[in-house]
Amino acid sequence: MAVNVAQLLDKVETRLLIGGRWVDAEAGETFEVENPATGELVATVASGRAPDALAALAAAAAAQSEWARTAPRRRAEILRRGFELITERAEEFATLMTLEMGKPIKEARGEVTYGAEYLRWFSEETARHYGRFAQVPEGTVRMITTHKPVGPCLLITPWNFPLAMATRKVAPALAAGCTAVLKPAELTPLTSLFFAQTMIEAGVPAGVLNVVTAADPAEVSGPLIADSRLRKVSFTGSTRVGKLLLRQCADNVLRTSMELGGNAPFIVFDDADLDAAVDGAVAAKMRNIGEACTAANRLLVHESVAEEFGRRLAQRIAAMKVGNGLDETVAVGPLVEAKAVDSVAGLVADAVERGATVLTGGRRGSGDGHFYEPTVLVGVPRDARVASEEIFGPVAPILTFADEEEAWRLANATEYGLASYVFTADYSRMFRASDALEFGLVGFNSGVISNAAAPFGGVKQSGLGREGGAEGIAEYSTVQYIGVPDPYAGR
Ligand code: NAD
Repeated sequence: MAVNVAQLLDKVETRLLIGGRWVDAEAGETFEVENPATGELVATVASGRAPDALAALAAAAAAQSEWARTAPRRRAEILRRGFELITERAEEFATLMTLEMGKPIKEARGEVTYGAEYLRWFSEETARHYGRFAQVPEGTVRMITTHKPVGPCLLITPWNFPLAMATRKVAPALAAGCTAVLKPAELTPLTSLFFAQTMIEAGVPAGVLNVVTAADPAEVSGPLIADSRLRKVSFTGSTRVGKLLLRQCADNVLRTSMELGGNAPFIVFDDADLDAAVDGAVAAKMRNIGEACTAANRLLVHESVAEEFGRRLAQRIAAMKVGNGLDETVAVGPLVEAKAVDSVAGLVADAVERGATVLTGGRRGSGDGHFYEPTVLVGVPRDARVASEEIFGPVAPILTFADEEEAWRLANATEYGLASYVFTADYSRMFRASDALEFGLVGFNSGVISNAAAPFGGVKQSGLGREGGAEGIAEYSTVQYIGVPDPYAGR
């Protein structure tokens, strides 16, 4: 059922959440959120700076010990209630994401399901976060290990998955007993604010979750990272900013989790089911308008099937309707901002100059929104910038390889190591692929791999740590060893 946009925007908070209260930024500053499909103003949101950030951290620090002592079952029930409320409000969350970020409404609904699942998954993990009990080999000590919350966390999220990136951090942090300051991306703050409203309604106590939106993110992160009350930074975003934050975190030796950029190879062997590979490529490339860290960035196709694969893919992609994501029939929405269109257009121009051929697309869209046509490039030379840079747009460059060894070599020829995809009918190749590929995720005959129950994260410059799965809660826990003298020592 279509949501009334004016009524929705009326009820979404636009202020900061500090210590359980919604407040304006101390300096009274605000910034604007734009609809990338129309260029229209969606909302004006409070813009925090250092005093607001420090007030939020003070609230998180004050709430920390009480929250850590709250029974796991109680914490679990609050997260579970959050899952239920988001699910009830799915259409509102989806509409809000499409309005501020541009993704097609159907995909926004998918993100609500996926994002809410982190709350359900971690509510279930909360009560099962076990330690160990053992006798040391010498028989002198009984060893107990327990998990303790790391402490107040700064959670910084990107704009491309406004709900899921927030739930993927907030759920495990709260499950582990940590309090948090959430700093959403300035392009898409509304979803996080609505999420926080929902979590407060679900029963999250004052100070346990705080939200500081800001036009200048460094004004918030800098003072927090320098403050000894903060114990952890979890960041999802570009590798460039991730490195900056890691350097800052070194001063206080903070725990960090870094979910950074990607450059996923999508490898199609000559024995692959080509229809399944094309379906997978459409999903892995065009989901979220290509603005995903897991997006297929380089389509590496065996030279004997590359032409046929390119033809079928171009046919599918040419049929995708581009437009305002609120239109149910639209498959590809706008890019998030004007400079993203410039960046994608620059990458395509570079590839064409170096000899690539455009099979479909290859142009900017018209109108007030930030549109770029879904594009397939073939004959892409290996020195083209699309072959090494993160595209973050609806452009599918096809490169070819001759044999398995060359496929692995090309795939690994990047400083990134997040997602990879392999299409083949040979199941023994799955193990050779997982051995050879230097990536945190390998999707086998599938273009969609992420799941709340699975560990998500990269190697190399794609990051540190894992979100989701049993691994996700460990990122917010510290292990304490308690040694008790063994009564039978010496026998
Ligand atoms: P970004 O690095 O520009 O911004 C991410 C977040 O960092 C935002 O909240 C932003 O406000 C904040 N930020 C920006 N500059 C900062 C600074 N100097 N100090 C502190 N905070 C700062 O990235 P983006 O453009 O929002 O997101 C796209 C990037 O995120 C892509 O590289 C994509 O691959 C990556 N990403 C990775 C994952 C993953 O799980 N690995 C998931 C989604 C997106």
